[in-house]
Amino acid sequence: MKEVLGSHSGVMPGPVVGRFAPSPSGPLHFGSLVAALGSCLSARSQGGQWLLRIEDVDVPRSVPGAAEGILRTLEHFGFEWDGPVVWQSQRTAVYREAFERLKAGAHLFPCACTRKEMADSALARDGTRRYPGTCRDGLAPGRVPRAWRLRVPPGGVVFDDAVQGRVVEDVLADVGDFVLLRADGLFAYQLAVVVDDGEAGVTEVVRGADLLDSTPRQILLQRLLGLPQPAYAHLPVAANAAGEKLSKQTLARAVEGMAPAALLVEVLDFLGQAPPSGLAESGLPAVWAWSLANWAPARIPRLRLAPAPAHV
Ligand SMILES: [Zn+2]
Repeated sequence: MKEVLGSHSGVMPGPVVGRFAPSPSGPLHFGSLVAALGSCLSARSQGGQWLLRIEDVDVPRSVPGAAEGILRTLEHFGFEWDGPVVWQSQRTAVYREAFERLKAGAHLFPCACTRKEMADSALARDGTRRYPGTCRDGLAPGRVPRAWRLRVPPGGVVFDDAVQGRVVEDVLADVGDFVLLRADGLFAYQLAVVVDDGEAGVTEVVRGADLLDSTPRQILLQRLLGLPQPAYAHLPVAANAAGEKLSKQTLARAVEGMAPAALLVEVLDFLGQAPPSGLAESGLPAVWAWSLANWAPARIPRLRLAPAPAHV
């Protein structure tokens, strides 16, 4: 049996800190609601804190007003988070400090490659181009640095995910040296996430399996920055019998304005929690009370083999 969040051995556990960290690229959708409820129930059922962070570090991809809409929708669904909302767009100085620390440790190098020059390199698992290491040993004369990359150490990163099981990735082979400071001057998502989680004392990261590919890179950064590694649980994404993701049809539909109790019950069902029939009709407080009392992480399926049923 894999390690399951919430099951503690004889060691006295420290305080649990979970978080939900949506990107404001549009309204809250079903997949985000799965991550929100899963992370919240995991933390709360262990008596822990649940934090909220808006991942707007990628300013050009942030849609004006989307973050406020996400917060309103979460409140409408009855979510209550601890402390103030953290906005990545306001934390550039903190990311720079971590960046300078890595630079001082000779973990970074400047890269002059343009998108066009990268276009012929192999595709990494997440669909981005694998960096071929062109500038790793120094820039050719006359080349102008555009971005800064992490000098990724060789070897596999291994971690045990509470839902997905053991994950192994050779980041250097699969992704290559990845960007921490982009050509447009913005710090990369991977760096921001690791710095934010470390500073907030996050002990468990519960999020969608669409982010599983990012985790080995984030663990590498945690190690290089001397930050503790949180526990990970990557929640299922919907897939058909052939294993193809169905994010377009199910996870991506917006949930704004939908009946909260019915939709939360749908998410519970999606997460394998077997909510009793009639729960949705008993109202939002009853749904929350049942969820907190009956949260069973061991029931979460690794993959959903059918689209979530549409009750609403
Ligand atoms: Zn380069």
